[in-house]
Amino acid sequence: MGNITIERSKTPKKKPDQNNLGFGNYFTDHMFIMDYTEGVGWHDPRIIPYQPLMMDPATMVFHYGQAIFEGLKAYKAQNGGILLFRPHRNMARVNISNDRLCIPPIDVDFGVEAIKTLVSLEKDWIPQAEGTSLYIRPFIISTDPYLGVRPSRTYKFIIILCPVGAYYPEGINPVKIYIENKYVRAVKGGIGFAKTPGNYAASLKSQVEAQEKGYTQVLWLDGVERKYVEEVGTMNVFFKIDGKVITPSLEGSILAGITRDSSIALLKHWGVPVEERRISIEEIYQAHQEGKLEEAFGTGTAAVISPIGSLNWNDNIIAINNEQTGPISKRLYDTITGIQCGKIEDLFGWTVLVD
Ligand SMILES: *Cc1c(COP(=O)(O)O)cnc(C)c1O
Repeated sequence: MGNITIERSKTPKKKPDQNNLGFGNYFTDHMFIMDYTEGVGWHDPRIIPYQPLMMDPATMVFHYGQAIFEGLKAYKAQNGGILLFRPHRNMARVNISNDRLCIPPIDVDFGVEAIKTLVSLEKDWIPQAEGTSLYIRPFIISTDPYLGVRPSRTYKFIIILCPVGAYYPEGINPVKIYIENKYVRAVKGGIGFAKTPGNYAASLKSQVEAQEKGYTQVLWLDGVERKYVEEVGTMNVFFKIDGKVITPSLEGSILAGITRDSSIALLKHWGVPVEERRISIEEIYQAHQEGKLEEAFGTGTAAVISPIGSLNWNDNIIAINNEQTGPISKRLYDTITGIQCGKIEDLFGWTVLVD
């Protein structure tokens, strides 16, 4: 793959107001890019000024969606260091997604090196305020100019960076979730476990209809029986029932979230019983009826922990913990965000220092 060359921008942008970043609105001065050519492999890794891509209209990714992406964050630690959270996990997941999408693998350590090199160059873009971070978006697109269904023979691996605000400007707040009974997201054997744009394209219609009804996101049920709970929009989902925390097992149709994995590890460490298994929506409704549904929350890089205040299941409203953030959600949020920015001791060796 060779060394990463750096071409610096001659026209650095004005940095956005740190108190009004939102999510996904601003991009830094540089990007990482590397090409793949069949017979050569991945080559010419480079950092260049942030710029549009010039592409042939026949480029395969536009027509057949052969692409994958990742999402992770860099944090400015209190001591001034820059921390990444479990970046090797993200790069390992790139290869899981790549394998499903017939995209050639990328060396995990090299991928992390590329992230570190870019983040280090852009360190002045990492916001400092509580809850803010630099969102890192690695992605791969198929680039053969060709109309016909087959794997591409050329690709681009690109990393862009985006300073983001606190997901909850007023602290963590429970969300209202609509349980989707018309559309499905994924089935076993499909691409549900891969982080690929197609899964999101498939989800838009449901999201739009749920938002029209006043809900933040949807909770997906399994694509075959519409009985078992899968995940929420961009997050994995957890339920606390009668003292036990339950999250759907990874059986091929849901994304193996890194925040999910970190939450399970912390709960086990705290001695909270955790079960990874199938959980039906009837079981959740019954627990609610019996007063045993204590908490529910989503996990994902963007929001970290998102408490669920209520669920709408066929117009039955399941209110959880009086629509307040529960103690487990709060403790997980405080602990994970504390580890991410170096405020809480990292017992699990999850953080990686950039420089
Ligand atoms: C990215 C993603 C998640 C969360 O994964 P994290 O690694 O925790 O950020 C959950 N579900 C879907 C569909 C995703 O794309």
